[in-house]
Amino acid sequence: MTMTSAKIRQAFFDYFASKQHQVVASSSLIPGNDATLLFTNAGMVQFKDVFLGQDKRSYSRAVSAQRCVRAGGKHNDLENVGYTARHHTFFEMLGNFSFGDYFKREAINYAWQFLTEVVKLPKEKLLVTVYATDDEAYDIWLTEIGVPAERIVRIGDNKGAPYASDNFWAMGDTGPCGPCTEIFYDHGEHIWGGPPGSPEEDGDRFIEIWNIVFMQFNRQANGEMQPLAKPSIDTGMGLERIAAILQGVHSNYEIDTFVALIKAAAEITGATDLADKSLRVVSDHIRSCAFLIVDGVLPANEGRGYVLRRIIRRAVRHGNKLGAKGAFFYKLVGALVAQMGEAYPELAEKQAVIEKALRLEEEQFGKTLERGLSILDEELAGLSGSVIPGDLVFKLYDTYGFPVDLTNDVARERNLTIDQQGFDAAMAAQRKRAQQASNFGADYNATLSSHQQTAFTGYEHEFGDATVVEIFSE
Ligand code: ATP
Ligand code: MG
Ligand code: MG
Ligand code: MG
Repeated sequence: MTMTSAKIRQAFFDYFASKQHQVVASSSLIPGNDATLLFTNAGMVQFKDVFLGQDKRSYSRAVSAQRCVRAGGKHNDLENVGYTARHHTFFEMLGNFSFGDYFKREAINYAWQFLTEVVKLPKEKLLVTVYATDDEAYDIWLTEIGVPAERIVRIGDNKGAPYASDNFWAMGDTGPCGPCTEIFYDHGEHIWGGPPGSPEEDGDRFIEIWNIVFMQFNRQANGEMQPLAKPSIDTGMGLERIAAILQGVHSNYEIDTFVALIKAAAEITGATDLADKSLRVVSDHIRSCAFLIVDGVLPANEGRGYVLRRIIRRAVRHGNKLGAKGAFFYKLVGALVAQMGEAYPELAEKQAVIEKALRLEEEQFGKTLERGLSILDEELAGLSGSVIPGDLVFKLYDTYGFPVDLTNDVARERNLTIDQQGFDAAMAAQRKRAQQASNFGADYNATLSSHQQTAFTGYEHEFGDATVVEIFSE
């Protein structure tokens, strides 16, 4: 069955609405209720307090398509982008939720029915996992659903710590969590990879499409697992991953929405090979950057704003590799709006703001990128061994604005690594110098930054007043 991403999203809403689920809009990428979390990384985030029993809603079943960013914190896929077929920094998570209403049996039945009857996936291509000791879930799959035993995999705590397995989901270090059952799709023998639990599981042959979490605990800071008063259900299915299957392609980067972005990126940068890894990186990054700005983040030197800055600079470096001359990244916003503006009207509304913020950051970094890259090249030509020294990584960071992960990204392309410890030491030494210097008088920077924070509530940034006025003056 071939379905566009938009149709799949709608089919998901329709199916769960027919099962009495309330359709709830995606929340912001900036979690409103949680200072411990960098970005919204799953559909359950906006319902965290409902799971904990601290918030009540008028419904006990919900369905959503949640925009997610995984580029920092517990779930970080930044380094996977360009290397796997299935990871993005920004993606949409389709999810159904039960707040103390239905539990394992219904959750498994709904997921199976949606996949095999609504979008009609062939059953024999599906594999499931259950938590090592979860006999109840195992039996539901085996006897009620009829999945053959050889395609049900028990995944245990093979990583040492209790509940450390991939099959035990946690939003972060604390908060609601529980054992999972996951559904995988076999993309075929011609692709490298093995079933979950096997040594080759990280390959892209068997791709996890749906994770169903049996929310049973609230993990405390000291590691204690407090049982929740009402066991609940939290599920997540990546829209891009199910779209890949339904559009008959292997990689998420070959689905409708990405093909359009990749074409636009090729046109703008002058790249000719549409399979170029850098085109994937750039088209992934425009999504996370644009949506982070929509949700109120601006490039900055720390916190969320620094994650945004790192993603933009990484994209700019890849654009440079593709042959882009001058600022190019902001020119992709139009193509993104064409793809996603209908589902996310706020994206279309803020197009001009996003473009300006990106262009300013690109222009600023563009001034030092080429110089930094040529210094890196010169130094690497004389490098003995395969480790880029910490001092060089620091110089690139400090003088040329290269975030460490950007240098690391270059290193990886050349089969090198970076000396992270050496970098940390150089950084610590510089902090100490700065602190000693500031002991000699009023700390001007502190005064300035607190002034800026009160002046521009809602946006995390470090642009000066004039720039912010310029960005918002459309
Ligand atoms: P994987 O093991 O493939 O990294 P995950 O177990 O980290 O996935 P979950 O935290 O269980 O993913 O998220 C629920 C679902 O969201 C996944 O089953 C997948 O379909 C989708 N998903 C997770 N991470 C990404 C990502 N970085 N890009 C696109 N889709 C994702
Ligand atoms: Mg993951
Ligand atoms: Mg997984
Ligand atoms: Mg998972």
